[in-house]
Amino acid sequence: MLIFGSARSSVDFDSPGKRTGMITLEHSDNQFAFSSVCVPVGVICGGPGPTVLLTAGSHGDEYEGQVILHHLMQMFEPENLSGRLILLPALNAPAVRDRSRVSPLDQGNMNRSFPGSAGAGPTGTIAGFVDAHLIPRADVVVDFHSGGTATQYVDCCFLCLGSDAVLNQANLEMAKVFGAPFTMVCPINGTGGDFDTAAYHQQTRFLACELGGLGRFSKRSFEIGLQATLRLLAYLGLIADQTDAQPTRFIDIGDRSVHVTARHHGLAQFHVRLGDVVTKGVHLATVYDLHNFGIIQDELYSDRDGIVAIKRRNPVVDPGDHLCLVAPEIPAGDVLGS
Ligand SMILES: [Zn+2]
Repeated sequence: MLIFGSARSSVDFDSPGKRTGMITLEHSDNQFAFSSVCVPVGVICGGPGPTVLLTAGSHGDEYEGQVILHHLMQMFEPENLSGRLILLPALNAPAVRDRSRVSPLDQGNMNRSFPGSAGAGPTGTIAGFVDAHLIPRADVVVDFHSGGTATQYVDCCFLCLGSDAVLNQANLEMAKVFGAPFTMVCPINGTGGDFDTAAYHQQTRFLACELGGLGRFSKRSFEIGLQATLRLLAYLGLIADQTDAQPTRFIDIGDRSVHVTARHHGLAQFHVRLGDVVTKGVHLATVYDLHNFGIIQDELYSDRDGIVAIKRRNPVVDPGDHLCLVAPEIPAGDVLGS
């Protein structure tokens, strides 16, 4: 039995074979007065080889990764795997059931809850279980995200760089193999409670990815993510070779990127599409006055060259709402020097 705070699991994570089970935890409210919170887990343990921990549903309204993990669970048996997969398709299970970004039980954002705490409510307790018991079992972690209900991302992998040059290089090699159309490069956030940083602190190789968004399932993004995952598993030696990807395009979403942010309440008309290459001065959006017909509130232009990498879903905006993110491209040879 593995225990972290009120979370416990009797799943055998370590013996050869294929099995499913739960991490269960206690939480007391109207819904869970005589129930447990259940987080589903799958283990496929084959011959000798590395362990890959795959997680999705960190945010409950992001679907492509959840489906990829269900698909992988159907796809593999221990006899065709050199190594072990540990799969959690609904990491923040209450948020997944609620079709929401954060948990309805404690408003916890899973990707702000690491390394977890036994007294932090269900979300922090699940994060703590993963940090204490599953990251240490993993050679590589892959965490699947999508834009969620509010945004859409270019299909991309996330490469978070810290102070460990060896780990940075290893994660860069995995990002190249993963071969998503884009790879977003950013610094490790030392205080944000994200999964990336928790894995980095344990010197564990880690990739996150963003596949699609808008709170719906995209077949195209699913297929990109599935093929990328299979390439990564082949690179790590768990399965037979897969076809190579096109080279990924690296973009900087750190200090050299910029959110294009609404300055007025209004209705936004976008003049660019997700994935467009824009140059400085390009007209990005017009914001119309919702209450005074015929009045334009604002015109927004790009202040730099870059890729429209993230785009807002709903065109009704308030001051402070981001319309899109413009991120400059990085030559592949400069990624670790950026
Ligand atoms: Zn997410």
